[in-house]
Amino acid sequence: EVDAAQKAAASSAADSDAPTIFDKVIAKQIPAQIIYEDEQALAFRDISPQGPVHFLVIPKVRGRLTQLSKATEEDKPLLGHLMYVAAQVAKQEGLAQGYRVCINDGPNGCQSVYHMHLHIIGGRQIPDGRL
Ligand code: 5GP
Repeated sequence: EVDAAQKAAASSAADSDAPTIFDKVIAKQIPAQIIYEDEQALAFRDISPQGPVHFLVIPKVRGRLTQLSKATEEDKPLLGHLMYVAAQVAKQEGLAQGYRVCINDGPNGCQSVYHMHLHIIGGRQIPDGRL
């Protein structure tokens, strides 16, 4: 609970338009375990995994997509692509028994990095209704 409250406070204080750490991951300026890459999307392992497999799928060009709630009609193909990449990489990661896909949006969603991303978590039974 404390952790969630701290994250929410930090994210609401942040300038959500400022560049994020994910720009450095895309530019390969900081190390990341990249497991998939194409022209539009990148998938890499979360630095603080919440399960045996935990990776993030992000758009390479963030544009307005700092967070899901900023998406516009124009973003529909990209959002679909990110979802499809999530499923393909999950397969590649051997998550045949299933997984959870999650997007945190804004302070109440505990978003901490303002570059929209999908979390894919698997490799264990996830409790009903929780991460
Ligand atoms: P959010 O809380 O915004 O939904 O998710 C951000 C995620 O990014 C967190 O799960 C966090 O562990 C992950 N993360 C933050 N900084 C880095 C980093 O520098 N490298 C990687 N691989 N993951 C990061």
